[in-house]
Amino acid sequence: MENIQKSFDVIVVGAGTGGTTAARFVAKKGLNVCLIEAKQRNKIGDKICGDAVGNEIFDILKINHPKNEELSCHIKGAKLYSPNLKKCITLFDPKQAGYIVNRLEFGQRLLNEALDAGVKLFLDKTMALDLLYKNGNVIGVKVKLENGERIDLNSKILIDASGFYSPLRKKTRNLYIEKQVLKEDSILCYREIVKFSPKEQEVQDPEYITIILDQEKAPGGYIWYFPKNESSVNIGIGTSMEYHGKVKEFYKKNVFQEYIKTNNVDIISSGGGVVPVRRPLWSCAENGFMLVGDAACQVNPLHGGGIDPSMRAGYHAANSAIQAIENDNNSINELWEYNYKIMTSFGAEFASLDLLRIVLQSLSNDDLNFGLERDLLSGEEILEISSTGKLNLSLIDMAVKAFKGISRPDLLLDLNFLRIKMKEISKLYKNFPNKVENFPEWKENVIEIYDKIKKMIVNKKKSK
Ligand SMILES: Cc1cc2nc3c(=O)[nH]c(=O)nc-3n(C[C@H](O)[C@H](O)[C@H](O)COP(=O)(O)OP(=O)(O)OC[C@H]3O[C@@H](n4cnc5c(N)ncnc54)[C@H](O)[C@@H]3O)c2cc1C
Repeated sequence: MENIQKSFDVIVVGAGTGGTTAARFVAKKGLNVCLIEAKQRNKIGDKICGDAVGNEIFDILKINHPKNEELSCHIKGAKLYSPNLKKCITLFDPKQAGYIVNRLEFGQRLLNEALDAGVKLFLDKTMALDLLYKNGNVIGVKVKLENGERIDLNSKILIDASGFYSPLRKKTRNLYIEKQVLKEDSILCYREIVKFSPKEQEVQDPEYITIILDQEKAPGGYIWYFPKNESSVNIGIGTSMEYHGKVKEFYKKNVFQEYIKTNNVDIISSGGGVVPVRRPLWSCAENGFMLVGDAACQVNPLHGGGIDPSMRAGYHAANSAIQAIENDNNSINELWEYNYKIMTSFGAEFASLDLLRIVLQSLSNDDLNFGLERDLLSGEEILEISSTGKLNLSLIDMAVKAFKGISRPDLLLDLNFLRIKMKEISKLYKNFPNKVENFPEWKENVIEIYDKIKKMIVNKKKSK
């Protein structure tokens, strides 16, 4: 491999949904792009996933919606159930309506479109190992090629889209980029794609993805039941990381046995994975370097959906890379625009949902049944606060809530406090500093909100 090109405008590591989107939009601009992927080419896209993606992202990026072999089925929205299954909140919004995809076919399409857009060098079966630094700038990446040879590849901009276990995030020297994702901010998942005869079992609610909150059956996470077609479903479970080693057992007992009522099944695919469920990294950029998707914790903390945000981030990272190269400046000051775009858009939503996630994880099934059944925090409110950062409850709404929650004033107060903090954090993110020098003060304000929510949870535990 001595003759391969070793110097690029942009190198993208990871050919998942985030990396292929970034590579595609940089290549489309005519820049010199290299895409590196650890997997063999024909396995790209074959990821353990719930396979659900909203339709909005395809319009935003002006790319084809999933169709033909890529598309398993259309989805109208999401149904969220309380633990006792008595309350079901139906969510219709552009991010919930969309598709269940065939993940391999979808991934292969995104890869092919990136290559067709003009990626100069695509290296599959190639592992990124380390960042290359010079004078405090990332200037490329050390990789191990298919033949075992280790080489250095140089870039003006390096984009890391290598997923949750990113080896590069751990090597960054920038103090604003967290090297580790805390266990408490991650969810462990196990899922299967199960095929059965439609004569023996019907797919429930075939036009909705179903999510069941249950702290006993899926502690710290949830159970999902997603349709794929008339004879197969993608079902799974997410739990907090402390159940490492037990998640498959939980799945068998609390998901498979409860939702699959026939013995005559084919397991098309099975496996586990980890999803980061927190707000994005403090910073997703440094000199010459940006992180995209799971590598940057850009996943919806409430439901773990990361396909859409990884593609949005890939697009923003591509634009920031193009701009930086045009301006011949790859410093953090130049790339800060990428942080700004992320934090003021879905970052604001995810920070707000992160607070909700932390509080939900601390609630018991009784709390969840009570709060959801009486609409103390409704689906519409969650969507409104998290997407707009606003929620103006009328005095009548407040009074109705107070009346409904009268037998659980503690829970009502906690949820009101949460509502206020969700609005505050969303506003703070929407006002993300557009200059690096203002970042430390902003960060302190965010930490303060998290501390208050965590203190509320500790006090609640103490009072029990
Ligand atoms: C069980 C489960 C269910 C999920 N369900 C959904 C869902 O229904 N909807 C949804 O939107 N999201 C879902 N997610 C999350 C979603 O899959 C991810 O958020 C999304 O795929 C992130 O894309 P990415 O491009 O950042 O990373 P990835 O898709 O993980 O891609 C990273 C790529 O980098 C490659 N790579 C890794 N290390 C290296 C290296 N050192 N060198 C070179 N290449 C490397 C990997 O092989 C991979 O191809 C789920 C996740 C899990 C685990």
